[in-house]
Amino acid sequence: MMLKDRCLTFNRFIQGARAQGLYPYFRPIARSWGPEVEVNGRRLIMIGSNDYLGLSHDPRVQEAAMQAIRRWGTGPGGSRFLSGNMTLHETLEERLAEFVGKKKAVVHVTGFSTNLGAIGCLLTSQDIILVDRENHASIFEGCQASKARLVPFAHNDPKAAAEKIISSRQKNPDGVMVLITEGVFSMSGDVCPLPELVALKEDFPELLIYLDDAHGLGTLGPGGRGVAAHFGLTSKVDFIMGTFSKALASIGGFLASDEEEVLEYVRHHSRTLIFSAALPASCAATVLACLDIIESEPERLENLWRIIRKAHQGYQEIGLLTGPPTSPVLPIHIGSDLKAALLAADLLAEGIFALPAIYPAVPRGKALIRTAYMSTHQESHLDFVLEVLDRLARKHRIRAEDLGDKSRILDPAGIATRTAIDPALGIVGK
Ligand code: PMP
Repeated sequence: MMLKDRCLTFNRFIQGARAQGLYPYFRPIARSWGPEVEVNGRRLIMIGSNDYLGLSHDPRVQEAAMQAIRRWGTGPGGSRFLSGNMTLHETLEERLAEFVGKKKAVVHVTGFSTNLGAIGCLLTSQDIILVDRENHASIFEGCQASKARLVPFAHNDPKAAAEKIISSRQKNPDGVMVLITEGVFSMSGDVCPLPELVALKEDFPELLIYLDDAHGLGTLGPGGRGVAAHFGLTSKVDFIMGTFSKALASIGGFLASDEEEVLEYVRHHSRTLIFSAALPASCAATVLACLDIIESEPERLENLWRIIRKAHQGYQEIGLLTGPPTSPVLPIHIGSDLKAALLAADLLAEGIFALPAIYPAVPRGKALIRTAYMSTHQESHLDFVLEVLDRLARKHRIRAEDLGDKSRILDPAGIATRTAIDPALGIVGK
């Protein structure tokens, strides 16, 4: 097959979806106010952003970014290893380590490159990596780069993980063994069963736990310190990975640990750190300003949770099939890809920005609309969203009572990992 033909097969699918007005991705946002955005000249309510604390538009955060640009320039001028390392990166690493309760942290230029670079350099073909099947694409990419034996276990199922540990240990008694899970799963909003996962260390003391807390950081735990802090298990988690692209209103990522030797190794071997440009100063300064605000204004987090609970309550009153209100991500489970795309198109027509997650971002037949709430949403935003959802849920027959066998839609068995590339669709990840 010619390369061009392969692309054409895929593109025809996209063109078809566009022609029917059902293509929801790459919407060009002309302007953002945080909980509202402008798309094609229309002002929409955003319920799909990961800017959970609404800090991206805080004037103090913006000013900090501006000052950093004046002092260090807009670009870093090189990788951290060579000419791009700034005092600001080192200050940020200290601050992040302190924030999550670890001794040290290493900053990368994105969350994706943190997982890819760190997992990719720490593990080898001698090792075993246990991964929750619903983990993020960047985790799977890191695992692939490491060449370690990849052992997926059923989503949020510590028993299944224990069985996999036993069987993989029999085949490989000596390799390093790491279990990687997300703190808050980005599509479903599920929180991982960290106490049970950490308890696996009682039977397998050599097991290391790597927690990707992209969505828990800033939103869960005391003072937004994340999922490990939420469960009081920070000292039992060996690695905490976080991103700046959600509640920390920027881009970038970090890996934190008490194992200073291991982080020093990452600093010198992570290919995405050594061979990629450093995090721009404006991004680093943004994160520092966000941490100041998160620590001094706990009411932001309280407000976020008030909004999450109100949205969840509204979803229940409408009769939508959603998860528990345990994170800012509230999925609306639908099942059919087509229905999810139709609903997203109608939401857009009504003035609401929310996107469908369809196969392969979620398993086949388990499409959902991913909604996410922000501390800066107003009561009036929520009232409007709930009123529209109520009407559209009836129109599209997506209330729980309309959906038939719910386990078919919710059951994670047979899930496609986020790295699966469907030959017809080609879209990967979340
Ligand atoms: N891990 C998880 C769980 C994520 O959801 C994401 C982003 N969607 C990443 C890692 C990658 O982070 P970034 O966007 O900062 O590259």
